[in-house]
Order: sequence, then C-alpha cells, then structure tokens
Amino acid sequence: MTSRLTFLMAMMLVVSPALAQEYSDSYPKNTGIDIQGYVFEINLTDDDDIVHGRTTVDARYVDAGQSQLRLDLIGKTEGREGRGMEVQRVTHRGEELSFAHANDALVIDLGMDVPAGQRVEVVVEYSGTPVDGMDIGPNKYGDRTFFSDNWSSRVRNWLPVVDHPYDKATTEMIITHPARYQSTSNGVLKESSNVGNGMKMTHWVNDVPTATWLYFIGVAEMAMEVVDTWNGIPIETWVYWQDRDKGFYDFAEPSKAVLAYYEDLIGPYVNKRLGNIVSNATPGGGMEAASIPAYADRSVSGNRDRRWQHVIIHEIAHQWFGNAVTEYHWNDVWLSEGFATYYTLLFREHHYGRDNFYQGLKQSRQTVRNFYEDDWEFALVRPYIEDLNNVSGAMMYQKGAWVLHMLRERLGTATYHAGIRTYYAEYMNKNAQSADLRRHLEEASGDDLKQFFDQWLFQGGIPHLDVTWIQDGDKVAIEVDQTQPDFLFAADVEVRIVYEDGNSEDLVMSITDSDSGSTGSSASGQHGGRVAEVIVDPNTRLLASWTVNGQ
Ligand SMILES: [Zn+2]
Repeated sequence: MTSRLTFLMAMMLVVSPALAQEYSDSYPKNTGIDIQGYVFEINLTDDDDIVHGRTTVDARYVDAGQSQLRLDLIGKTEGREGRGMEVQRVTHRGEELSFAHANDALVIDLGMDVPAGQRVEVVVEYSGTPVDGMDIGPNKYGDRTFFSDNWSSRVRNWLPVVDHPYDKATTEMIITHPARYQSTSNGVLKESSNVGNGMKMTHWVNDVPTATWLYFIGVAEMAMEVVDTWNGIPIETWVYWQDRDKGFYDFAEPSKAVLAYYEDLIGPYVNKRLGNIVSNATPGGGMEAASIPAYADRSVSGNRDRRWQHVIIHEIAHQWFGNAVTEYHWNDVWLSEGFATYYTLLFREHHYGRDNFYQGLKQSRQTVRNFYEDDWEFALVRPYIEDLNNVSGAMMYQKGAWVLHMLRERLGTATYHAGIRTYYAEYMNKNAQSADLRRHLEEASGDDLKQFFDQWLFQGGIPHLDVTWIQDGDKVAIEVDQTQPDFLFAADVEVRIVYEDGNSEDLVMSITDSDSGSTGSSASGQHGGRVAEVIVDPNTRLLASWTVNGQ
C-alpha cells in the first residue's frame, strides 16, 4: 500500500483516561460512542466527478451524557479548488438536526443527552468531488473508472465516518452508476438491478466489523471471473476488460492455497468472499481492502510474475492481520504490516521451500540494516503519531517481520504458532495492541518477553557485532562485542566455526544489555584444529549486522 501525504489536519489530542497507554496517536478517539454499522449510498455519473452520498450511521452510545456525534468528512474549503464535500442535510428519524462542518469534522447536535446503551441512527446527505481517496478518471486504457484507496486516513474524503481503526463497523455499500459499468465493494452481493435512465444499482453487504481504511469501491468496465471456491467462499478475479486473458491467468494463483494455509495455521477467514481486483488508485502495489484486495494495474503481465504473487499473498495475509485483528492505535501498525510480511514469508516457506524463505528473510534483514544507517533512533512502536496519513514506513514491514521471526526462533515454531492462534482467537474482529500479542506468547511459552519487546519494539537500532577469532596453535578463541552507538541488546548469537579438516562446530554466545560489566561474550572452540572460516548466525535467527576478523 502507499502512504500519501495529502493535507494537513488540525487535530485535538483527546485520550480517554481509561484507555491511556504509554503511546497513542493524534486521533480524537471517543470510546463513549461505538459505531455499529454504516450504510453508504453512493451515486456516480459520467456527467461530472461529483459523488452524491447518503450515509446512515448506526451509533451505540456506551457512556451517558453525550449529545453529539462527530464524524470525519473532508470539507469543501478554500484552497481545494472546488473539491471536498458539502453536507446538505442531517436527520434522525426524519427530523433535521443541526450540525457544524468545519476543519474536516462534521459535528452533529442530537438535541438530547443520549442514554447509555442506546443506539442512534443518523442520516447524512452530502455531495462533492473528492479531494483524494477516490480516483475518478481514465485508467491506462483511457477508460473512465472510479476506484478508492483510503490508506491510511483518506476514506473521509468521500465517506463520513469515524475514520480510525479503533472503531470498526459493519458496512453496506449501495452504488448507483451508469449501467455500462460493473461495481464491487466489500462483502457479498445482495442486489444488482437496472433502475432506469441507463443506471444500475448494486448493493454489497459486509457483516464483518471492519476498519475504515479497508472500505472499498470499484466501478469500471471490467471482466470478472469466479476462479474457484474454497470452503464455499468464492475466489474472484476482477480486471479491466482488455486484460481478461492475461489477468484471469495471473490471478488464478495462488489465492486458494494461501487461504487454506492461513486458516489452518492461524484461525478462521472472517470474510464470505475473496476478490482480487486491479485498480488505478493503488499505484504503489497492493491494498488489503476487506474481502476485495486491490492491486496496481501493472500487476497484470500474463506471466504470473513471482513478485506480484508475493503481493497477492501479502494482501491475503492482511485479511487475518490488520483486517480481522486490527491495531488499536496507528502506533501498532506493525501488527498489520509486520505480520503480513512475515506470513508472506511463511507461505513462501510452506509453498516454495526453505531456500526461498531464507532468501526473503535475508533481503528483509538487509533492508533493516540499510535503514538504520540513516535513522538509528527509529522504534517500531513510536510514542506518538501526529500525522495520520504517515503511519507506516519500511520498518513496519521488514523489522516487524523479523521481530516475529525471532519470536518464533526463541519460542520454537509450535509454541509460537500456538500463541498466535490464541491471540487471533481473542482479537478476531476486534482491536489489539503489542502488549496483547506479548501476553499470548508469554502464556503459550511461559517466558517473560518484556525485555524482548522493549528492545526490539520500543527502542531504535539493531546490534552491531564485532566478532573476532584468534587461533593459538590447535586452539581457537572467539569474542563477540556490541559496537553500536547506542541501545544495548540481550540476545543469543550463533557462531559456526568451520575447520580446515571439514568439521564444524556451533557455539551460542549470549550478549547482554548489562549496564555494569561486559555486554559481549567470549568462548573457545572445543574441536581443535586450524580454522578455515567463522560464520555468524548460520541459521538466520538474529536481526543484527556484523564484521568478522580472525587470524
Ligand atoms: Zn501491507
């Protein structure tokens, strides 16, 4: 997915004391209101790029004493060249409500204190040309299309919602558009009807609580194929009609195998459908829209390009991590991207073999090493995220994946997966934080993982190891030192001594974060003989960089 900085938002920081954590982002969360569901009605035409919308919000008032509903909606304000949304009317049971739409927030006055536990249904009617979030215009063939990509806080450009992952909701999307197009969205098709005047209406129902960045709309002249079914769930391909042959071929693999593997490894797939769709709103690669992941239109080659298959695997992995289990704060976006990256590698290990897996791991490790040459302080979980459209960055993917890999290596593969399964079972269709993951892995293993999480998640850097070996006659002594500029690590470093006689010997040397005494480690080879080579981390278990010197 791509992360595009589109506008500056003036935001207030409000953190409910009950949910105050050691870290947070700038979204004004209101945990006293819980959105249950949205029904979005969207009208699109070929006459102009104006979206006519009508959204029904079903909000449950958890706490008493509230009389407002605040939604995010990018307004038509100065400097946006006539783009942005204007609200025409807000109603509750047919009665008009007063509202204020300023600073891209729609604040609705309900005219009453809503009793705790009560549900309120508010209807917002609005229209305008989206500033961002929905691309309306020609695709690579010059055909008019309408596609959304909301990562990470851009759905508010065309839908009035509580636009943050903490408040997941079910959705219905009712799209009316010129009849020559097909349209698709999250969930399953409920209705597809011609409604006169050359217009068609399709109605999609998604009964899975879903975070707002995952809402999707695609309207274009397309070719659609049901590739297969898996456990009764249709697997579909949606491509531009010109790409029918090549696109159907490319996307026929490997979705079914991926669904089967993850369900077995992690837990249930929560959606009732999986459609892979090309879109010109996702130029960067892929976007894990719930049940209908989108891919850059250049993904179609007719060659089943391996690189694009990795993107498909990644976006399907997100259906479990990011979509079903969703980060509560944007600070924990690694729970989405790190998992999708590592579970892509796990599928590669399962499907293409261990060499492919280790190749991917080593590539990821090199990306992390290169990153830390420029930005040493960067922590996977940052204390505060201000810009809600700049929440990820490369480290969330590769370092996040490596954190999971090191947890698996430390706990053992079976124990690691047992912990992930209970984590998934508890947070499926809910929100989680890093501490929730830690608790499940600690319960599965009996280990205390506080220090592991502290050093890999909440501080920057990675270990830089200086490995020295000294041959003295038939004996060899090895020393490992940490030489990074800041941040000490505790970890096991595996070192393999390869002797000239062809034998080898593996040593495990523990480095520590002790603030008194040595943080390195020394050991001696037991085999005896002349050393040919010393290999650090021969089994690809540690995120670190190193140099080896010997004589
Ligand atoms: Zn991703």
